[in-house]
Amino acid sequence: MNYFPLTKQQQDWQERAREIAARELAPRAEQTDRTSQYPQVALDALKREGLWGLRVSKEHGGLGEDLLTTCLIVEELAKKCPSTAMCYKMHLEAAELICRIPTPYQVTHFVEPMAKGQVFTTIAGGESSGAGDNWTPSQNVSHVDKVSGGYQMSQIRKSYVTSAGHATHYQLRCRVGASSPQSSVSQLFVEAAKVQWNVVEPWHGLGMRGNSSSPMMFSGFVPEENRIGPEHTVQNVTNNFFRPVVALTYAAAYLGIASGAFELGCQEIARKFPSGSRRLDNAVHQRRMAEMGTQIEAARALVHATASAYDQGRAVGQLPYMQAKVASSEAGVRVTQDLMTIFGGTAFAGRLPFERYFRDARAGMVMGMANDVAYQGMIPLMFPEGG
Ligand SMILES: Cc1cc2nc3c(=O)[nH]c(=O)nc-3n(C[C@H](O)[C@H](O)[C@H](O)COP(=O)(O)OP(=O)(O)OC[C@H]3O[C@@H](n4cnc5c(N)ncnc54)[C@H](O)[C@@H]3O)c2cc1C
Repeated sequence: MNYFPLTKQQQDWQERAREIAARELAPRAEQTDRTSQYPQVALDALKREGLWGLRVSKEHGGLGEDLLTTCLIVEELAKKCPSTAMCYKMHLEAAELICRIPTPYQVTHFVEPMAKGQVFTTIAGGESSGAGDNWTPSQNVSHVDKVSGGYQMSQIRKSYVTSAGHATHYQLRCRVGASSPQSSVSQLFVEAAKVQWNVVEPWHGLGMRGNSSSPMMFSGFVPEENRIGPEHTVQNVTNNFFRPVVALTYAAAYLGIASGAFELGCQEIARKFPSGSRRLDNAVHQRRMAEMGTQIEAARALVHATASAYDQGRAVGQLPYMQAKVASSEAGVRVTQDLMTIFGGTAFAGRLPFERYFRDARAGMVMGMANDVAYQGMIPLMFPEGG
């Protein structure tokens, strides 16, 4: 259900995404998870629907849809196949900056081709060191050397690159020059066909098993024309319009895990056993189902309200986006955990796909802005004067 009012166009998109997910994603989701197979077929279906260009402006040939519509679509996809939804979400995340602040060269070479389904991208950001992630001040990123006409990458290792080896372009976070401080980050739009890269090891995650979120190494020359925004300025240019998109598309994906598992739970819990009894007749199960439904609606209302505020230019600060991300990912973990309990041995044995959603949901606690990092980041926003 939608407590937040949607326009007719947004409702139509939600319905269309639901239909695409049921037709193209649902039939392949089990195999994608079981075999850790990259969901190329499902992603190609999204391309045929024009969805690779969802956030490319109409002026540049894309669909130019707003952030609330984007969240509705990502949730519907994640309900049926979280791995596909996450690969797609990372594409949207990586597409956002270059779609919002492209140079004329980038419009011709990257943005317009993206609208035509010729560019599928992802983030090559984090270099895991145990010191935090992209969102923390303690981030660590390798440097590229500035050379004539561009930048030279030398064996840059990125730890978890979703769509590793499958993306056509990688948005690579780096420092320009060895002496640049870690706080001074730049972004390069790296064309896979024009540099050397390798996937260091296969991806066998606990969940999101179709993601291909493997470590990668990058070497080679990247022309200056491929830099997004000025050098050293990622933090400055990203705060207001990039981070909300990152956080809310994550939120929508985790919300989809929660709501996809819950919708299945609602069908199964009312099913009659041969004895005539139903799981729903158990008062403890009733309480759990009511709690799950409440948690999902609370997270969804927050996602929709903050996305709408962003679309209307009403949003101030980062707090609502962080709250939407943690609320949605925690809904995913809580709902899937409770469904595992309600459905007992049937769920544990994998006869119903709750355990797949349960494993996928765990990624939400650590991925992107890890929840602990997000909560830490909320405090200065809640207490700007230091409390
Ligand atoms: C399925 C999956 C897909 C991914 N895809 C991508 C991708 O496409 N591109 C990309 O760049 N990265 C990707 N990542 C990486 C992801 O962003 C990192 O896993 C995340 O940033 C956490 O970093 P880490 O794994 O190094 O954990 P660590 O930084 O070691 O953090 C582990 C834990 O330590 C705690 N912690 C760490 N720092 C802080 C802090 N500052 N404050 C409070 N607590 C803290 C938290 O509890 C956190 O969960 C992916 C990860 C996963 C699991």
